[in-house]
Amino acid sequence: MVNFPALQTIAMVGLSDKKERPSYQVAKYLRAQGYRVIPVNPALKELFGEKAYPELQAIPPEIKIDVVDIFRRSEEVLPIAQQAIARKVHLLWLQEGVISESAVALAEQAGLTVVMNRCMKKEYAAWLLQEQKNIYDVIIVGSGPAGLTAALYSARSGLKTALFEGQTPGGQAATTELLENYPGFDKAVSGPDLMIRFLTQALHFGATLITEEVVQAKLQGPMKVLTTMANNSYFARSVIIATGARSKPLGVKGEETFHGRGLSYCATCDGAFFKDRKVVVVGGGDSAVEEAIYLTKFASQVTIIHRRDRLRASKILQERAKANPKIQFIWDSVIEEIAGDQQVEKVLIKNVKTGEKGCYPCDGLFVYIGHAPSLDFLGGAIELSVDGYITTNSNLATNISGVFACGDVRNTPLRQVATAVGDGAIAAMAVEKYLSYQE
Ligand SMILES: Cc1cc2nc3c(=O)[nH]c(=O)nc-3n(C[C@H](O)[C@H](O)[C@H](O)COP(=O)(O)OP(=O)(O)OC[C@H]3O[C@@H](n4cnc5c(N)ncnc54)[C@H](O)[C@@H]3O)c2cc1C
Repeated sequence: MVNFPALQTIAMVGLSDKKERPSYQVAKYLRAQGYRVIPVNPALKELFGEKAYPELQAIPPEIKIDVVDIFRRSEEVLPIAQQAIARKVHLLWLQEGVISESAVALAEQAGLTVVMNRCMKKEYAAWLLQEQKNIYDVIIVGSGPAGLTAALYSARSGLKTALFEGQTPGGQAATTELLENYPGFDKAVSGPDLMIRFLTQALHFGATLITEEVVQAKLQGPMKVLTTMANNSYFARSVIIATGARSKPLGVKGEETFHGRGLSYCATCDGAFFKDRKVVVVGGGDSAVEEAIYLTKFASQVTIIHRRDRLRASKILQERAKANPKIQFIWDSVIEEIAGDQQVEKVLIKNVKTGEKGCYPCDGLFVYIGHAPSLDFLGGAIELSVDGYITTNSNLATNISGVFACGDVRNTPLRQVATAVGDGAIAAMAVEKYLSYQE
């Protein structure tokens, strides 16, 4: 059985520019499915916008060829098979009526998969028909505000939509106790409640929720293949990456040891464990200050340790924090180590201006020093900005055809629920347009 989704580039030997010829029709069809077809024919200069080559060997080595598809007389096949072996292609395909047992034996001996006397167009069409029910129009990876909005828009526009949830259903927004700046709510809305509403709405319009984490993605080519931690594979004609961001670790001694033992990256999740205790929050941005204020609901004292002498958070949050009697500040300082016996008992800190070192006792530590995009499953396949976020154009398309990105995971000037929602809508509409051009 040929693994069609694994293929991307086809070198077509004997491809004709005459429309009535089978090679032309097969090439046209496969291109419409998203395959790259490289013409190999000494009589051609180019076809379908692709430069033509007189023979396989002339194709530059940087072009990775997956399949050599042969439209030549049977007696001409053997040397082509030899060239295909030298090019280390994966699959040698002899079209209907092209028969060469010696070429097949040679190629199979060299480890190539060989298909003989079959039409690639017909075989692909049959595969498509068989797999149709399992192929999504769009797979959305990530169920934060961006992914949930993309799912709502794409399902509502009639696309067969799958939404992958990952480890944090509802994303960062679901770990935020109260959102004060999401439009439409004059009183602060609970992050988890809002995200349940987003999900319910997306499911109402027919999106399929798959509660699995994607660990691998094959995004090049017409058929995208996503593999999950449960070792399941899912096919789609397009993909929206909405995997958001996660907290950056401090990178200090004791961080791994005390994670879950007094050290947390989520006040909404763990704040209630620190009733009448003293906690430290590290960071100076909106998230750090917002969560410090939230923690005063439980803790007897909240100390914000920040490496500068002023906060980066918005003015309104700064004013609230400074007016809160439970909050105090340690400026110009960084944490060098987290220490304790079974649980966090203290942090060792250093003043970055004076170099003075000290020890600050506490029962808990909450880290909010920024975020990094969640991209591990992509394995470096996609173009990133200098600071590591996915680069997109104004339609939120990435550098890979049929792959889009939205929300916190992409290179964007603002990372908020409102912007993630806008992004999700744009990405879904861009997918709809992209798919309509593929038909
Ligand atoms: C503490 C805190 C407070 C905040 N407060 C506010 C606020 O008051 N107002 C505001 O507007 N914004 C706030 N934000 C920011 C806001 O939450 C984010 O901008 C928003 O959630 C981004 O949405 P997103 O969908 O792009 O990504 P995320 O919310 O990060 O969602 C990403 C999703 O992708 C999933 N995922 C990741 N990798 C995989 C994978 N491999 N396979 C499957 N799924 C995967 C995750 O599990 C998650 O569901 C806050 C953030 C934090 C952390």
